[in-house]
Amino acid sequence: MRPSKRNLPKLIVGLVLVWGGIGAAPAIPDGGRAGPASSGPADLKLIEELVAANRVLADQGVLDGYGHVSVRHNRDPGRYLMSRSLAPELVTAADVLEYDLDSNAVDPMGRSLYLERYMHGEIYKARPDVKAIAHNHSPSVIPFGVSGVPLRPLYHMSAFLRAGVPVFEIRSAGGPGTDMLVRTPALGRALAQALGGNSAVLMRGHGAVVVGTSLPQVVFRSIYTEVNARLQAQALSLSQNVIYLAPEEAQRAETTMDGTVGRAWELWKRKALSKP
Ligand SMILES: [Zn+2]
Repeated sequence: MRPSKRNLPKLIVGLVLVWGGIGAAPAIPDGGRAGPASSGPADLKLIEELVAANRVLADQGVLDGYGHVSVRHNRDPGRYLMSRSLAPELVTAADVLEYDLDSNAVDPMGRSLYLERYMHGEIYKARPDVKAIAHNHSPSVIPFGVSGVPLRPLYHMSAFLRAGVPVFEIRSAGGPGTDMLVRTPALGRALAQALGGNSAVLMRGHGAVVVGTSLPQVVFRSIYTEVNARLQAQALSLSQNVIYLAPEEAQRAETTMDGTVGRAWELWKRKALSKP
């Protein structure tokens, strides 16, 4: 986060909130159910990284006023950290809450939560390897969720898409009467099932969910899923004979690019966090 005086009180409040659940009586989150007790204070660096991930994805045009990012709690794989309901660009450490994997907030203190938080909890349950998740409505991926044209990696930066990008059809899980939002645990489970072992899943008529083993990696993947979608649409407008990465190329490129994520992450952070 920005180290400005203006934000210092917010940071302190945020840290107190994240620590606040230890030994405290269960709070009453939305829905009136008793919230779980905290698993303890999260690593401050992780909270800072989560705030940065929100800001970077907004700065890079992947998130706008909507979408959310979460990270698995460093102390307890059965918990994750995510902001209260807020536009990603406005997220500070003070807004970060702890959730259990049923997506109950430990201590929401009356604040509203993301309606679609269930996708995070259900994916963390289904995928022990996943440490960070981003949900976005990035515009270039939308056509690939509705056209039957599969999103495929056509350059090295998006090699992580090599295993395929499934499309989640919410009608299959929720019938014809949903509002397109993954607003229940059952829909979250269906989305996690559609994701399978892949790095990303498209949501028909809605957006995408991208997963990774760290916040910098999930930010990298979110950005290059959007870029690949844009480039693929451009390439398909030129020719129907687009050449995609071969499986062996993609496998090697993914390993190489994974080793360089830190370089881009530092640049993206500096750009996003230097904005007023
Ligand atoms: Zn959404």
